Amino acid sequence: MANRSPAVPRKPSSTIDKELRALVQELMDDPVEWDCPEVSAHLGRALPNRDTLAWVAQPRGSYRVVEYTCACEAVFYELVSCGGIYQIHKVIQSEPLQHTYAGGWRQSEARLVWCQLLAGRIR
Ligand SMILES: [Zn+2]
Repeated sequence: MANRSPAVPRKPSSTIDKELRALVQELMDDPVEWDCPEVSAHLGRALPNRDTLAWVAQPRGSYRVVEYTCACEAVFYELVSCGGIYQIHKVIQSEPLQHTYAGGWRQSEARLVWCQLLAGRIR
């Protein structure tokens, strides 16, 4: 590849180095660069002995969201009700978004699973 894009000006590596260092410093000074409304729950760290839910690509049907974790994180979850049967909706905020669903519980069971999810005992 002999041709370089004329749109990208070449910078000496010392300049790039300086810019990178400034960027890293900026990130370290202020680690929360994104907006967190600090209203919804943030997930606890996944525990090493956690249980794993069986995730599928489709929900059981149309649903309404009952609970949700904070979307400031790369992965967030929703507790959803599909006509009274509850599922957990996992959203990985990649491009494009990745959606998966787990469960099919009654409300009391779903509450327990949701709490375990928040506590990192299940993922
Ligand atoms: Zn947040």
